[in-house]
Amino acid sequence: MKPHHVVIIGAGPAGLMAADVLSKHGLTVDIYEAKPSVGRKFLMAGKGGLNITHSEPMADFIARYDKPDWLKPMLDQFNAKNIMTWMESLSVASFIGTSGRVFPTEMKAAPLLRRWLSMLKGRGVRVHCNHYWQGFTDEGDLRFKTIAGEKVVKADATILALGGGSWSSLGSDGAWVPILANKNVGINPLLPSNCGFKTTWSPYLQEYFGKPMKNIVGWVENDTGEMDASSSEAILTTYGIEGGLVYALSRPLRERVIAHGSATLYLDLLPHVSEDLLASRLIPSGKRSINNTWRKAGLDGVKAALIREILPKDKWSDASCVAACVKKYPITLTGMQPIEEAISTSGGVMRESVNEHLMLHDLPNVFCAGEMLDWDAPTGGYLLTACFASGRFAANGVLKQLSSRIKHGMTGEYFSDGNRLNHSAL
Ligand SMILES: Cc1cc2nc3c(=O)[nH]c(=O)nc-3n(C[C@H](O)[C@H](O)[C@H](O)COP(=O)(O)OP(=O)(O)OC[C@H]3O[C@@H](n4cnc5c(N)ncnc54)[C@H](O)[C@@H]3O)c2cc1C
Repeated sequence: MKPHHVVIIGAGPAGLMAADVLSKHGLTVDIYEAKPSVGRKFLMAGKGGLNITHSEPMADFIARYDKPDWLKPMLDQFNAKNIMTWMESLSVASFIGTSGRVFPTEMKAAPLLRRWLSMLKGRGVRVHCNHYWQGFTDEGDLRFKTIAGEKVVKADATILALGGGSWSSLGSDGAWVPILANKNVGINPLLPSNCGFKTTWSPYLQEYFGKPMKNIVGWVENDTGEMDASSSEAILTTYGIEGGLVYALSRPLRERVIAHGSATLYLDLLPHVSEDLLASRLIPSGKRSINNTWRKAGLDGVKAALIREILPKDKWSDASCVAACVKKYPITLTGMQPIEEAISTSGGVMRESVNEHLMLHDLPNVFCAGEMLDWDAPTGGYLLTACFASGRFAANGVLKQLSSRIKHGMTGEYFSDGNRLNHSAL
């Protein structure tokens, strides 16, 4: 009997995790990757410290996603704890930081990726780099552009793990969008997420560009008056503002920019002091300069510069006015940074386009996983966790699908290692 052959396209975290599951079950797994080497975005994610997941309680964790009920079954099967155990199985120790974020002890992605690949290769997974997927033949086979010309590959099942549309030099260029759209797959446009936003600063602020503002709180007011709050840091840049606080609010900010042409980000520059107390500390006394009064009240550096940016000089000695401005500092944002520079992208293959196992309704035996699916989440380990979890989920979907095809006599009955497929184990 012919062994089952599963093709995974895209060797990022989602594709490699799908290979992990399938190779464990003894299937023949071939990974095709456009770039000359694998996991380039994963390696980039590890550059400033690989925040691989988050240790907060599951209910809080799941609430970080824009489509929690879609992702819940995936995250129930593979969550932060599972990721830490899985890393341990590859002899990669991890630790939980003070913020609850989880990192490999070595901080980088490279050692983890090296051990992961070696484990997969040990299980017989074949990785074909420099294979750029271009779509399907009329017979439904897979077309690749290679250095040696076009190559056509047949598969019993395919998992597409092609990533989103940011940082295209690392491989995920979003070119799969028109290919799948032409096959009637519903796709929401890829948009920048976890990105910086544009605003115009006066030349006066230039000397503060690139200096982080720490211990601030930010929020966006929505149409019903509620707020999305986030506490972290932000950095002024030549184009506007970026940093963890802005990334965490990128979804509501993006929605407002798209709907209204601009969005207001509010900052509390001194969240640990009440407005009344701050106003009392900002009252000029004796010969003390305004600068010194502000500094003693905790208002200095970039925070003081921001106040001077919007309050006219004759208001600087008006303690109540300054305090009100510090506690609710408005920044009008007029656009997002280009998709190319975003950490991730929202949009992608819509939930309605796949079944409960992530198989495309319009392309039987073709599954999708990772950032190319239409979910969104902030940085903090949530992106990688959903990529891992959906990669595993799609692989389990493939196992179920192959099992049911065997039951209906549509394919061979054996895995590549000659073992009979165990229906009850699937
Ligand atoms: C600077 C930066 C820092 C980040 N930091 C973090 C972090 O700390 N924590 C976190 O959770 N997330 C982080 N992320 C996000 C995270 O890296 C991504 O969400 C994740 O890599 C997506 O995984 P994926 O497998 O879905 O896609 P990708 O990692 O993008 O992999 C997709 C693969 O498919 C290949 N491919 C694409 N098209 C084709 C084609 N046509 N043919 C063949 N192959 C193709 C690509 O070359 C690529 O290798 C960061 C991202 C960036 C850019």
